[in-house]
Amino acid sequence: KAKKHLGQHFLTDENIAKKIVEGLSFDGYSNVMEVGPGMGVLTKYLLEKDQQVYLAEIDKESIEYLKDHYPKITEETFVGDFLKQDFQFMQDRQIAIIGNFPYNISSQILFKIIDHYERVPEMVGMFQKEVAERTAAVPRTKDYGILSVLIQAYYDTAYLFTVHENVFNPPPKVKSGVIRITRNPKEGLAGNEILFKQIVKAGFNQRRKKLSNALKILDIPEALKIHEFMDKRAEELSVADFISFTRLWKENRL
Ligand code: SAM
Repeated sequence: KAKKHLGQHFLTDENIAKKIVEGLSFDGYSNVMEVGPGMGVLTKYLLEKDQQVYLAEIDKESIEYLKDHYPKITEETFVGDFLKQDFQFMQDRQIAIIGNFPYNISSQILFKIIDHYERVPEMVGMFQKEVAERTAAVPRTKDYGILSVLIQAYYDTAYLFTVHENVFNPPPKVKSGVIRITRNPKEGLAGNEILFKQIVKAGFNQRRKKLSNALKILDIPEALKIHEFMDKRAEELSVADFISFTRLWKENRL
């Protein structure tokens, strides 16, 4: 029986499961971590690939089920709660992420990936459609926000396809969307990452206000107070704008 508090909605369509797994390129890495394998509808196809598979699952019943049904899956395959993952066991290896994610922790999963972008070259995953769309959103749209800017600063995003409620058991309340993100850290970010996140978050946390107001909590360097961006709202700035603005901020603070 599905556990609501774990965001369990089991995918029942084999073709879609296969299509999600085929969304990964399997190029440039030989390790994949699946988040929330449940009863293994994606895992089955993943195990056919020439990859070392790791499973992040917190539901004991699912873990027992997977060990019983797939000979390749052992206790060592499991890495526990994805949100507690620090990827230390990976040492210097690269690992792709895949999953039909528990929707109650979608943003946290994406932020976790961003925090470990140096280790994660690619992710293919299913989210509620609205979150999937936010990752690929462009400036001056209502979907464009913290998630869009932070992800696009580190990854290229592609919306792959939409999935209807009725192929899940139990069906979720909303449609789902599958996306792929491919690592491509944008120039100028390196070394400025903490400040970049602070500026993006502060800007969008008060998205109706001009940046001159929204960023006040951050102690704006004197020279930037007259910058043209200060008259704009966060949603008017591109990802490149945010990055160049962060760099200027840093230079002027020193
Ligand atoms: N992959 C299966 C499928 O497609 O049918 C199950 C998907 S279900 C939407 C989400 C899964 O994530 C559940 O199996 C749930 O137990 C698991 N889960 C929930 N929170 C988790 C967490 N913090 N870390 C790892 N797995 C989690």
